[in-house]
Amino acid sequence: MPARANRSTLSVHGGEEGRKLGHSVVTPIIQTATFSFDASRDVRAYQETEIKTRFEYGRYGSPTQLALEGKLAAIHGAEDALVTSSGMSAVTDAFLALLRTGDHLVMTSESYRRTRTFCEQFLSRFGVRVTFAEPDARSIIRAIRKRTRAVFVEIPTNPHLYVPDLPQIAAVTRQRGITLIVDPTVAGPFNADPVRMGADLIILSLTKYLAGHNDVIGGAVLGSRALVTPIREYHGTAGTLLPPLAAYLILRGIKTAALRMERHNQSAALMAVFLEGHPRVRKVYYPGLASHPHHAVASRLLRGFGGVVSFRLRADLKGTERFLDRLRLFRIAASFGGTESLAELVASMSFWDKTRAERRALDIPDDLVRLSVGIEDTDDLIADLKQALDSSH
Ligand code: PLP
Repeated sequence: MPARANRSTLSVHGGEEGRKLGHSVVTPIIQTATFSFDASRDVRAYQETEIKTRFEYGRYGSPTQLALEGKLAAIHGAEDALVTSSGMSAVTDAFLALLRTGDHLVMTSESYRRTRTFCEQFLSRFGVRVTFAEPDARSIIRAIRKRTRAVFVEIPTNPHLYVPDLPQIAAVTRQRGITLIVDPTVAGPFNADPVRMGADLIILSLTKYLAGHNDVIGGAVLGSRALVTPIREYHGTAGTLLPPLAAYLILRGIKTAALRMERHNQSAALMAVFLEGHPRVRKVYYPGLASHPHHAVASRLLRGFGGVVSFRLRADLKGTERFLDRLRLFRIAASFGGTESLAELVASMSFWDKTRAERRALDIPDDLVRLSVGIEDTDDLIADLKQALDSSH
């Protein structure tokens, strides 16, 4: 591979250079729980090497997993990568390995529901204090205290797709020795470049655009070797490994991620414009629209605006459910970033267990719909939205 390959080349070849078992072109699924040594001296050599080039036991890594880690590090420009059983285990592995009793964490009030739950309900049991800040640089910086050990930011946030100014936040965290952790899962690969924007650690749900086919769950933590190594040690103990078959499916998905992302970006942008012009739609949230409050920051920081579009209908809960029931191509389902287009009523899926008042405080009204725009034909998708909007009064 050329020394200065571009990202779509890296997404095909990165982490998979060199001859493979049986001269296979693609990385095979090495499905084994443990690995054998030829002699005791090989065990000793393995234990004495700091950067391991072979494997001991499946919970600590496997060749298929290693190829995926190499690919992820290559396309994100990170020194090291660790893959985990889900995006959530990437979050929990990273936070539990890095934070100590007495540490303070700042995170955006709008964060993936379970990440917020983990920090609010579980990290707090270990004496880690959390401050939730509005998802803009000024509020996040203002929430930093003397004991702040890490700042966690999603870019964009979900479901309103706010885009905090990461370089502005990074300038402060770097100066104060605070770890800036960024989850760019919603942006999608190639749209955001967290390393260039100053992130120390990247957390990813591979389940979404990277794997891209709504058929596998996985996560990753990326960053410098110094930061990732203690997380890897914790991970080997916690046992949150990504099985070889899942690693293989994600490796395969990533090879088409650049192509798919172009279609997600284009279709979602057209859908946002269509929705904004429809009389049954009250408001659209898409950072590519001039009407989005963070459009200027998003235009500066993102290469594409991604495949998630949220909008409010002029309807009550029942009317919004009627709209969803009329959709034929979009499937009613949680998640985003896959080939199939999905739609969810945010109040009744991600936030079902909250009271209406709690949802109101989080700005989740009964008429808020989140679309994950897949890679079907754009005209077909717009026609589907149109017929559902027009027939669900
Ligand atoms: N981060 C973000 C932004 C997400 O939206 C999600 C899941 O929806 C996760 C992390 C968790 O990922 P996973 O579902 O792979 O555990």
